[in-house]
Amino acid sequence: MSRPGRYSIGRMSDKNSVIADNCVVSFHYTLKDEGGKEIESSRGGEPLTYIHGHSQIVLGLEKVLKGKKVGEHVTTSVSPSEGYGERNEALIITIPREHFQEKAPLKVGAVLELEDDNENVLLAAITEIGKDSVTLDANHPMAGKTLNFAVEIMDIRKATADELAHGHVHKGGCCH
Ligand SMILES: [Zn+2]
Repeated sequence: MSRPGRYSIGRMSDKNSVIADNCVVSFHYTLKDEGGKEIESSRGGEPLTYIHGHSQIVLGLEKVLKGKKVGEHVTTSVSPSEGYGERNEALIITIPREHFQEKAPLKVGAVLELEDDNENVLLAAITEIGKDSVTLDANHPMAGKTLNFAVEIMDIRKATADELAHGHVHKGGCCH
């Protein structure tokens, strides 16, 4: 017996559809920095999926994907202002070394969770370990970088009502 309702019309991809708000889009991508060095890629794994028009991917990429079809290849260069933002020097923090637990090994490049006065958690990478102080950088690792994307659109379908209500993509049935 089939299970009506499990696969609704909304879950089927439509090869003629174009990317618009409230579409679930699957795409493969390779991301390179300004110098052409590969930063990350979905190739060899699952494509990335997102709901278009909900700021789930960087703005500069979301803008150029609008109106594209399955099978299209898109390359674009995204400036920091439409990517992960400019670097903010105020997010470089120096903390007296004595504030770190003695047993916690400190290593340049290690990422720590910091809590501010409002209990917001901030991820910060150690950039320098001095005799008396430790310097951390809480900028996004890709802040200030121009992002060069090469994208191939793999699938487009309308998001289901559940997906729009939850704000995320459901793969192979419901995620809950
Ligand atoms: Zn959900």
